[in-house]
Amino acid sequence: MLEESRPLPFETQNLASSKASRAAGSLLQRRSPLASPEYQMNVLEAIALPQSPDQTDFAARIAQQGWTELRPAQLEIFQINVGKLCNMTCRHCHVDAAPDRREIMTLETIEACLHALDQTEAHTVDLTGGAPELNPHFRYLVDQCVARGKQVIDRCNLTVLLLPTLQDLPEWLAERGVEIVCSLPHYRRLNTDSQRGEGTFEKSIEALRRLNAAGYGQGNPQRRLTLMSNPVGAFLASSQAKMEQEWKTGLMKHQGVSFDRLITLNNMPISRYLEWLEQSGNLQAYMELLVNSFNPGTIAGLMCRNTLSVSWDGQLYDCDFNQMLDLEIHAHSHIQDFKLEKVNDRLIRTGRHCFGCTAGAGSSCGGAIE
Ligand code: SF4
Ligand code: SF4
Repeated sequence: MLEESRPLPFETQNLASSKASRAAGSLLQRRSPLASPEYQMNVLEAIALPQSPDQTDFAARIAQQGWTELRPAQLEIFQINVGKLCNMTCRHCHVDAAPDRREIMTLETIEACLHALDQTEAHTVDLTGGAPELNPHFRYLVDQCVARGKQVIDRCNLTVLLLPTLQDLPEWLAERGVEIVCSLPHYRRLNTDSQRGEGTFEKSIEALRRLNAAGYGQGNPQRRLTLMSNPVGAFLASSQAKMEQEWKTGLMKHQGVSFDRLITLNNMPISRYLEWLEQSGNLQAYMELLVNSFNPGTIAGLMCRNTLSVSWDGQLYDCDFNQMLDLEIHAHSHIQDFKLEKVNDRLIRTGRHCFGCTAGAGSSCGGAIE
């Protein structure tokens, strides 16, 4: 059941059929069993891992480290997923976003988010999707958050900035001091296009040029440009610090573009990345890798502890990944009935997918944890 049905702000047919889309369409459109979050959870649970049960059960594993309960700390980041609509169909997408998705947050739900935000001391509002800029109320939401003195993050896929209706967006966001966190799998063409579709790299570089021209990526904290990379394959994210200099040098030398910082994320074994793991025969090995790479030092900094995630239809989740798996917060709250005490008093829901956050240096929407 969708909240809104309205003409989309771009030509979905052209984009969906262009070489820019790597996957054939969303799991939902293809009627893949993996479109069901419950099915995904069952697939993960059914993997016969060689480690003992207390090593492969996430709750048991963190309990061994003294975390018999995983509870939130101070709420710092209010993350709003404004819809699953996207101009791309990346093979690794954990949201199953695509041009064929129509789930979009309505103005009414946005107002409820703002009302809830006013009850919290969260310093940051993190806008994500899909491509958040395709929500028709995106600019209103940004303005409202800026007026409240919040730091605003736009999670941008770069290519969306080339759409005719969004050409002015770099300057518009710059005027408001919005941080742009841009996903770019790699600074080399081949790696990026293999994950996101042929031609994506060229478009991404063009978008980065436009952001640089608007003052982004030049060391100004009011025009912060962050690049976000996740591995193109079944391995863990490399060291953020090591890669940042390599990327800065590579992008400047070969493309003449700059950015401020690089964050790296592990791929979460859900949704279309889970499909790819299955199809490529990497699922078992990847889950073993995540479990074997468990790092207890990441637990305190897990993003579910300082973030609250709101879905396009106003349901509340511990994090974006639990949102995609339909694991609503234990308090079963909707944004319309938001009560901070109830949210703060919850137990965080976990599962095997959580090993994606604790592997290696850890992984969150803010990059590595350690
Ligand atoms: S990974 Fe990002 S850009 Fe790609 S389909 Fe998903 S939401 Fe869109
Ligand atoms: S997947 Fe979500 S709930 Fe699980 S550890 Fe990561 S942030 Fe926390």
